[in-house]
Parts: sequence; C-alpha cells; structure tokens
Amino acid sequence: MNVQTQIQAASPTRTEHFDVLIAGAGISGVGAAYHLTTQCPGTNFVALETQKTFGGTWSTHRYPGIRSDSDLHTFGYRFKPWTSAPIASAAEILKYMGEVIEENDLAHHIRYQHTITSAKWSSADNLWTIEAVRNDTRENLRFTTNFFWMCQGYYRHAEGYTPEWKDMARFKGPIVHPQKWPEDLDYKNKRVIVIGSGATAATLIPAMVNDCAHVSMLQRSPTYFRTGRNAIEIAEQLRQLQVDEKWIHEITRRKILFDQDAFTRKTFEEPETAKKDLLSAVEAYLGPDYDIKTHFTPRYRPWRQRIAFIPDGDLFQGIKSGKASVVTDEIDRFTEKGILLKSGKELEADIIITATGFHLSANGDIEFAVDGKKLDFADTVTYRGMMFTGVPNLVWVFGYFRASWTLRVDLVADFVCRLLKHMKATGAKKVTPQLRPEDHNMPLLPWIDAENFNPGYMMRGMHLLPKRGDKPEWQHNQDYWAEKDEFPAIDLKDGAFVYG
Ligand SMILES: Cc1cc2nc3c(=O)[nH]c(=O)nc-3n(C[C@H](O)[C@H](O)[C@H](O)COP(=O)(O)OP(=O)(O)OC[C@H]3O[C@@H](n4cnc5c(N)ncnc54)[C@H](O)[C@@H]3O)c2cc1C
Repeated sequence: MNVQTQIQAASPTRTEHFDVLIAGAGISGVGAAYHLTTQCPGTNFVALETQKTFGGTWSTHRYPGIRSDSDLHTFGYRFKPWTSAPIASAAEILKYMGEVIEENDLAHHIRYQHTITSAKWSSADNLWTIEAVRNDTRENLRFTTNFFWMCQGYYRHAEGYTPEWKDMARFKGPIVHPQKWPEDLDYKNKRVIVIGSGATAATLIPAMVNDCAHVSMLQRSPTYFRTGRNAIEIAEQLRQLQVDEKWIHEITRRKILFDQDAFTRKTFEEPETAKKDLLSAVEAYLGPDYDIKTHFTPRYRPWRQRIAFIPDGDLFQGIKSGKASVVTDEIDRFTEKGILLKSGKELEADIIITATGFHLSANGDIEFAVDGKKLDFADTVTYRGMMFTGVPNLVWVFGYFRASWTLRVDLVADFVCRLLKHMKATGAKKVTPQLRPEDHNMPLLPWIDAENFNPGYMMRGMHLLPKRGDKPEWQHNQDYWAEKDEFPAIDLKDGAFVYG
C-alpha cells in the first residue's frame, strides 16, 4: 500500500461540528449561505464544495458562448440587483456571485475541493455525520451537523450524457460533450455537427459559427425557442429616469414574472395560439420560405420542455447567413467521415459535438443512511419538492423549469430559516416529514407528470427520484406563482412535520 492509499484509507482523526452544513457552492449554496447569515445570524455553518471555486453550473461549463437561457433579474437573487442585459454570460454570472460572497463576507464559510461522500443520520444523537474527501490531499474528513441543506444541483458535473450510437469509434475526428470541452479544441474553418437542439446547442452554435466552415445542428425532433432583444424595456426606461437600481430590480422582476405567468397560462389554455406566437417569431428571422414546419415545429405543447431564450435571434441569424443549418433526421450510425442518417444521407464533419444532455444526480452521488439503514430517495415521498418522508433535518433545493431556478432558492431559504427558528424556539432537535392519516390513501406518482413536463434527463432518471402525491404539499408543482404565496404560509405545526 503506498502512502496515498494509506491516507485515503485512514479514518478521520477529528470531527468538526456545524449547526448547518450546505452541500455545494453554486447559485443555490451561495444563496443558502447568504440567507443563513442574514436571517439566522449566529448560525455556525459551512458549505462544502467539490470544485476549486464557487459557481457550480457556471464554473464547470466551459464551452464557447456559455450563457443563461433565462433573464438574470429573476435568475439573480431577489436581494442583489442585476444591472446588465438580462441574458448573461457565465463570466458575468460568476462575477455577480463573487460580489455576493464578498459583500456578505461568505468566503470563510466555504471550503473548496471537499467532496461529500456519505451522510448518515443518527436519531440517538439527532445529528448527521458527513464524510468528505479533500480532492487535493485525499484526506478523509468528518463533520457532524444538525441540519443538512442539499444545494448540490440535479446533475453530475463530471460527465454529460451521450447516447451510445453504432460505430462511434469509427469517426476519425474528435467527439466532444459540451460538459467536457477541451480547452485546445480547434474548430477554425472546420465542419462541425452539433447533435441536439436544446439550450446548449442554441448557445454553442452562434458562438462558433463565424469561425467554422459550417455548423449543422442535427436534431431528431425540433425544440421551441423564444427570441427577442436582449433587453427589458421597463428596466431601460427606469434607468433613464435614474431610478435606484434596487427599485429597478424589483419592478423588472415583477414585470418579467407577470409576463411569464401570462405566457405559461396561455400555453395551457390556448396552446395553439402560444405555438403560433413562438413560431412566427422564428419565421420573422428566417423568412417565409424557410421550412419552419420540419425544423422548428415541435410535436409537443409549448412548455412541456424548457424553452430557451435566443437573444437577438443569434441562432437564426447564423442559419439565415447559411453558415449554420438544421438537419432533422435520425442517426443510423457514425462513419469515418461523419454521420449516416436514417434517410440515407451522410453528413460529413471534422468535429462532432454531442449536446445531448445531463446525467441526473438527485443526491450529489452521496451515500445516505438513516439510523443504519441505507436510504433510497426513490422510496420516499417529497414534501413540496424539498423534504422527504422519513428523512430528518434535510432540505434539498430543486428550482423551477418554467421560471428561473433562483426564485426557488430564495423561497426555500426563507422556509429553512423559519423552520430553524421555530425549532430553536420550541427546543425541537429533529423534524421529519411524514404522511398524515388523511394522506395514506393518496396515490403515489412519479416525481414529475410527464404530461406536464418531460425533458429527457428527467425521464431517464425518474426511477431515482422521490415519489409525489396528488396534493400540493406532496409535490414539487413547478408553479412559482402559487408557491410564492404558499411557502410563507406553510404551517410548521402541520401534522406533515413530526418533531422530536
Ligand atoms: C448550461 C446550463 C445553463 C443553464 N441556464 C439556466 C438559466 O438560464 N436559468 C435557469 O433558471 N436555470 C438554468 N440552468 C439550470 C441550472 O443548473 C440551475 O439554474 C442552477 O445554476 C443550479 O444551481 P445549483 O447551485 O442548484 O446547482 P449547480 O450549479 O449544479 O451547483 C451545485 C454545486 O454542488 C457541488 N456538488 C455536487 N455534489 C457535491 C458533493 N457530493 N460534494 C460537494 N459538492 C458537491 C457541485 O460541484 C456544484 O458546484 C442551466 C443549466 C445549465 C447546465
């Protein structure tokens, strides 16, 4: 055994205790740290983050053009104004998060290169024991905490999802997943195929197109996009009037959320009109002769999958210029020169990019146990998409699909802080969600209703996720507009919470 493995195998010699332990320092973890500091001052807490820096999604994704697909007035926190154009690059988002950390003195609470490997709850001690490994020294570390706040996101950062296609090894050029973008990938004057037509493809293509000989966006089926100017009119007007940025942030958020609510309702109540609106915006860029029906008309109702915003129609401008094109077909197999399609056509390329999505990871690849019994989250029922039956003192942050993720980061944080204060005031050491007698005949369903929302990574990983019931308390209903009123009104004395 070499020294390295001896270190790895050794048990930690000391245990550090924190009132709250946060997993991850992405937008959720940094938000949790801010809210704990401001709403529960005096709380002794730490955030453990496996990467070398904060940012999560925005630091691990390095592909060209990486940017948000929703506006930063609502993807930004409610407490810190966003003062630039609404669709932002990863660099701008990281700068914003860095300011949140600095302005609120959060840096000393975050420990980087700490990968949490296991979390074990003991009812005898009313504590979680968290084991972590330091990535740089391979040292094993042990922590105990009263409350575990899971802000570790929903997908595996280390690798993306690439389907297995026939003969992939035959292709002579590089096959790249955007989650592992090689720094030295030279695509200048190269012919590129991007497989997929989600937000990642729609971001990558405009960023690369002018350097490449040609980019083909190869999709099995089309996706909806929204497009428009990368600006919010009301924010511009208020800025002209020299209104305080805090006010501009709040008013702009309200305006965006009001408009998004109206649009979401329309997709359910008048799906054909909503569809027409989306498609005519695309047609305005591509012209009446472009085959919108084949390449941009999805088979599903709008909002059943996330709709990316395309600022200034840049994706469509690339297509209009002829430097990019859309191919709607299925892959038969890879060849030495590119991809043979089921239609019989061969698409030639020097580089193939698989913008084919994520590997869902609901628990950050952490091994969980409750009182000595291995925990499988799929055996639990979710309390409002953030707590789980039979799992004490734990909250998970899972944001919105049809609105910005961070809206829920703030809402869940308010709830956690209220819960922690309630427990302190009542002397409770433990809170466990539990189905009430009136819930026992409730049907238990998959985490999301595929009729309502069905992105591929969720469908592939549904068996790993907790169950949902058919009552608002027992599901993550993805409805910010309802939850913004429901969350502050959650009765902490409800029978769904069992205290000890
Ligand atoms: C390219 C891309 C663009 C997106 N754009 C938008 C958008 O515009 N609007 C929107 O609302 N949503 C968007 N999303 C969804 C996005 O992931 C979330 O909005 C948000 O950034 C997630 O933040 P998070 O902090 O919850 O999770 P993450 O960003 O995934 O961060 C979680 C952190 O936890 C760490 N971690 C995980 N497991 C462990 C462990 N075991 N131990 C220690 N640390 C751990 C990770 O390293 C990571 O840093 C986008 C997603 C992607 C991939």
